[in-house]
Amino acid sequence: MENGNDSHTKFCQKCGKKILADATFCPYCGAAQGTVNNQATASTTTEQAQPQSQAPVQPQAQKRSVGAFVTWGWITTVIGLFIPIVAIAGIVLGSLTVTRKHTGAGVTLIVFACIALYLGLTGFGQGFFSAL
Ligand SMILES: [Zn+2]
Repeated sequence: MENGNDSHTKFCQKCGKKILADATFCPYCGAAQGTVNNQATASTTTEQAQPQSQAPVQPQAQKRSVGAFVTWGWITTVIGLFIPIVAIAGIVLGSLTVTRKHTGAGVTLIVFACIALYLGLTGFGQGFFSAL
């Protein structure tokens, strides 16, 4: 007795010959045996959520010191109209302001301090006090 219906065998889909049931390709004709490879195109969208950590690093101490330079620079400039020596301090404070990258305010302060020094040396304060 010959049992042709063997569970370990199947027939080729192309040539019809008996091949192994788990055969992917027919050993006779080489035809693929109905194993559909589902190639699932898995599109993985990688979303890289970058936390934007904004670190506000503001040199407030430096800005505050520059403001103090400008403030005292103008104070000494005004005083320099009457006491010329003090106007030199205004020029120094102006130059310090320039070195702190506040060129506009520093240069303006130096110019006015020089004017105050000149006016103070030429007797602006004496004329001012004598006018009182
Ligand atoms: Zn075949």
